[in-house]
Amino acid sequence: MSATVIDGRAVARTVRADVARRVGDLAVSPGLATVLVGDDPASAVYVNSKRKQCVEAGIRDLHQHLPGDIAQAKLEAVVDDLNADPEVTGILVQLPLPDHIDPARVVNRVDPAKDVDGLTEISAGRLAQGRSGLRPCTPSGVIELLDAYAVPIEGAEAVVVGRSELVGRPQAQLLLQRNATVTVCHSRTRDLEAVCRRADILVAAAGIRHLVGAEAVKPGATVIDVGIHRTEDGLRGDVDQDAVRPVAGALTPVPGGVGPMTIAMLLRNTLQAAMR
Ligand code: NAP
Repeated sequence: MSATVIDGRAVARTVRADVARRVGDLAVSPGLATVLVGDDPASAVYVNSKRKQCVEAGIRDLHQHLPGDIAQAKLEAVVDDLNADPEVTGILVQLPLPDHIDPARVVNRVDPAKDVDGLTEISAGRLAQGRSGLRPCTPSGVIELLDAYAVPIEGAEAVVVGRSELVGRPQAQLLLQRNATVTVCHSRTRDLEAVCRRADILVAAAGIRHLVGAEAVKPGATVIDVGIHRTEDGLRGDVDQDAVRPVAGALTPVPGGVGPMTIAMLLRNTLQAAMR
């Protein structure tokens, strides 16, 4: 038996097409302000693909490229201006920021109504309390993949490996909101394999290549590989895909699994923020 391949590119295409159709129905198109500070090449690549896919979906590109030596106060003032600008319906501050900047202060400056990355304390608090709000893009993309492949979430044993603000924590909250029984693992978890083996849905988001092998997977489980590692052989994930494929029931590949969903969900959040 070989696991069903969960095709993130196809699901992302469907989400983007749906967003484009709904944007077309709006009287005024949404405007996304991506804020890029400095010249980090990886960040520039990420921001460029976000901008490109936004434009393709009919969202206005209100990009701001700021110098790497910008002062904290000046950067916060830029965010304040974007908050006040009615043309701007969504704001995304590309992380990481230069070392002299306190990222939490900048991110939390974003108006929660425009927080299309879902990373402000208000958005995180609303998620933790089970209230409506804008959700972080990568973990909501994972939920979208599970739904697209009709993976039952309610009542399922879900194990999330990783507890970062960006992925693991919101992932656990989103699964809990859908009535999964959720366990969160981290660097101090004892016997990671045994805990992971309980999972009907296993989400690997630790940032350690091949952390999850066949011994960590219950036969037939759905395994979601969030990890991204650039290797000489191309992109790889946190899951040892060759080892896990014969054991899992379904598996997201790397590349082509969770990755494409992140920008698709950003587009959906931008639409949602504009419609409020
Ligand atoms: P992060 O901030 O470094 O968090 C990693 C988490 O994994 C931490 O909570 C850490 O635990 C836990 N961890 C580390 N070693 C572990 C171990 N041996 N066993 C169990 N847990 C362990 O990383 P992140 O930002 O969440 O990203 C995780 C991965 O996802 C990275 O590879 C990143 O590139 C990728 N990513 C992909 C996308 C996408 O679009 N596909 C988006 C975002 C991130 P402690 O809290 O105890 O330190």
